[in-house]
Amino acid sequence: MTGESLPEVSIGLVPTMGSLHAGHLSLIQKARQENKLVVVSIFVNPLQFGPTEDFQQYPRMLEQDQALCEQAGVDVIFAPSVEEMGVGRQQSAASRQPSAVSSQKAEGGSQKTEDGSQMLELEAQTISFGDASRFWNTQADTKSPSAQSSPTQVIPPEPMTSVLCGRSRSGHFQGVATIVTKLLSIVQPQRAYFGQKDAQQLAIIQRLVEDLNLPVAIVGCPIVREPSGLAYSSRNQYLTPEQRAQAIVLYRGLSQAAQVFRAGERSADVLINMVKTELQSVSTIDPEYIELVHPSTLEPLEMIEETGLLAIAGRIGSTRLIDNILLSSRKPIVAIDGPAGAGKSTVARQVAQVLDLLYLDTGAMYRALTWLVLQSGLAVDDEPSIAELVSQCEIELSGQPTLMEKQATSISVSINGQDVTQEIRSLEVTSNVSAIAAQPIVRKELVRQQRRYGKNGGIVIDGRDIGTYVFPDAELKLFLTASVQERARRRQQDLKNQGKDEISLDELEQSIYDRDLKDSTRALAPLRQAEDAIEIQTDNLSIVEVVDWIVRLYRE
Ligand code: AMP
Repeated sequence: MTGESLPEVSIGLVPTMGSLHAGHLSLIQKARQENKLVVVSIFVNPLQFGPTEDFQQYPRMLEQDQALCEQAGVDVIFAPSVEEMGVGRQQSAASRQPSAVSSQKAEGGSQKTEDGSQMLELEAQTISFGDASRFWNTQADTKSPSAQSSPTQVIPPEPMTSVLCGRSRSGHFQGVATIVTKLLSIVQPQRAYFGQKDAQQLAIIQRLVEDLNLPVAIVGCPIVREPSGLAYSSRNQYLTPEQRAQAIVLYRGLSQAAQVFRAGERSADVLINMVKTELQSVSTIDPEYIELVHPSTLEPLEMIEETGLLAIAGRIGSTRLIDNILLSSRKPIVAIDGPAGAGKSTVARQVAQVLDLLYLDTGAMYRALTWLVLQSGLAVDDEPSIAELVSQCEIELSGQPTLMEKQATSISVSINGQDVTQEIRSLEVTSNVSAIAAQPIVRKELVRQQRRYGKNGGIVIDGRDIGTYVFPDAELKLFLTASVQERARRRQQDLKNQGKDEISLDELEQSIYDRDLKDSTRALAPLRQAEDAIEIQTDNLSIVEVVDWIVRLYRE
């Protein structure tokens, strides 16, 4: 059986410690959009708590979490006990304090069990809505207690754990990495969702997955904040109303630093001092650290070249809070998605021209590759050879689009150093490009190249899943739509302008309807509207009006 004939059941995992709030729900929502099945794990991981930390007090509210998950369309809650996760309390960092062991409450109502009954216990804690649980095996742990006394642990790179929270939370990230690795191995998701709120954790998990070649995509999600600016956290429950009001200073400090960053300040000292001064305005805050590091490597920065992570931790009373902000000098990316025939590429070209950005013509990239395949004498269905070819090719786009859609040739396109701007418009390329573009490996490689462009920002790009998949962190996401009737009318007008035979509106509507259905259900790059995309209904708007609207949004 080949890979393609396997049914695609994509699983999205959202690891949490429960006591769910709007931050968690945003991860769940994103997972819901991108996967067939959504699994939320709820596990207060003893390995990540230090001996003097709040493992015992950490809020546990499984029933309420269950209701929230059900409302949010979660398919399975995986809520194992400490024993079932094979990290009995004797291994936990928290258990180094004897009183913590003696006063230990069993988690989630689970009880110590004999080996044979652990599976049942686990299943009792695996709450599935519908029949989703049949898709995966819940046998988390069948080892004997003696084998559990010294389990394998995952140790992230020291430079990533010796900064920020790692300074005061020794062993914390080892505990996180170990449990996340176990969760990924048990659930086997295609994607796992982590919040930018725990930016150090996110960077470490991203590195872990890369280093251990784990077959999962780690999806980072933006911080969700209360209207006051305070980042949602399960630990906010510990705060009194006064402390809650005081805690807002964390975000205020970060926002002020972001403001001077936007005005051109790049020095770590200056940015950190801004936050420090702001925090000093609230005497009850006891700052633990204010640091500027690279968001992926976590290396301390003296200056921000492209992006920096400004992160803080502080205590209010006995509650430890963390917050951070990403500072990026990358020029914005404008992602335009929408159904076929809504005018995306015409609009994208014009927006790029008005804003002096690069129109990343993905169609031209697929055409360039198709030209190379044909030039190399490969059959268009020879996927293994095409895979090899595509992994070695580099496509370059440069120049400005002209305002006319059909004159896209003013963008220069080269592949492996050869200019193919004219060649990619040939009939032969046109008639073979869809067969090439439909190959998953081709798509994967070209997305990689598109993201390479995205590193510096300053691009406009259109497609079906740009805002949700290719550039989920795009600064401006648009979803351009138009009714089927309007798109049929526009298509008829186009055909007329080109002197082609007239097709009836009914026939055009039917074919647009079929195309929409195909585009939103296709396995490869289905049409998806990003949660944070601004929808523009273009039925009663001219191209110029749509472009003006987007330019205005960009400038805002
Ligand atoms: P926790 O339950 O605290 O372990 O968090 C589970 C996941 O939710 C982690 O990936 C967190 O980064 C994420 N998360 C927590 N708070 C927020 C927030 N305010 N915004 C976005 N994600 C969050």
